[in-house]
Amino acid sequence: MKFDVSAALKKSTGRAKSDVANKLVSMLLHEISRIACAAGGMTVSDPRYAESVVAAFGTSCLYCGKQLEPDRTTVEHLNGMNRVSVGLHVPGNVAMACKKCNNAKRQDDQHLLLADNGWESFLSHDGRRCASECPTCAYWIGVLATDDVERYLAAARIRIQTFQAQYQQFVQWSADARDSLRKRAEKLYRDCQTFATNEITALTSDIQLGFSQGPRPSSPNG
Ligand SMILES: [Zn+2]
Ligand SMILES: [Zn+2]
Repeated sequence: MKFDVSAALKKSTGRAKSDVANKLVSMLLHEISRIACAAGGMTVSDPRYAESVVAAFGTSCLYCGKQLEPDRTTVEHLNGMNRVSVGLHVPGNVAMACKKCNNAKRQDDQHLLLADNGWESFLSHDGRRCASECPTCAYWIGVLATDDVERYLAAARIRIQTFQAQYQQFVQWSADARDSLRKRAEKLYRDCQTFATNEITALTSDIQLGFSQGPRPSSPNG
């Protein structure tokens, strides 16, 4: 398949402002995580936490179970650190995943239809409740070396629940605080968008160009 230059260029045009707002939401959630970790006496960077991640998932992706490879691995937030999922960087919400699963889950996260949590929804696509063209269902069929997707995903969900049970206080607090965190994140996101729009309008209002004609694209043949 040829790379779609036109689609990529169009997509890049609308992105800049919301990227800033999303970054601020991530900073807010990191600060809340710092407060929670201080209260709970444990952090994600504590060596004991790493040990518990390895004990639960080995050195495999917590979703698909494939061996992690250095350049195809990412730190994964089971509930993503965005204004929809409002996941936190706290013990019980962080593990390692392959980049393919991370990406497929991010697509799936925009729906949150099959469960209350991002990770749980991602691992609930066993083909029974989705339309036939569901991309996450297709992802699991493509990536899992098993005919029994349903059983594999059920086992993966239990692995994660068992892991999270060790960090019940963080998991429970995150769930209880979710509505409140979402409201704060939404407020920051909106305020940032408004601020950016107003400031940028003010800072560009006096720019006047005397261009007399549109651009003339050069021919690729010179
Ligand atoms: Zn994976
Ligand atoms: Zn599905």
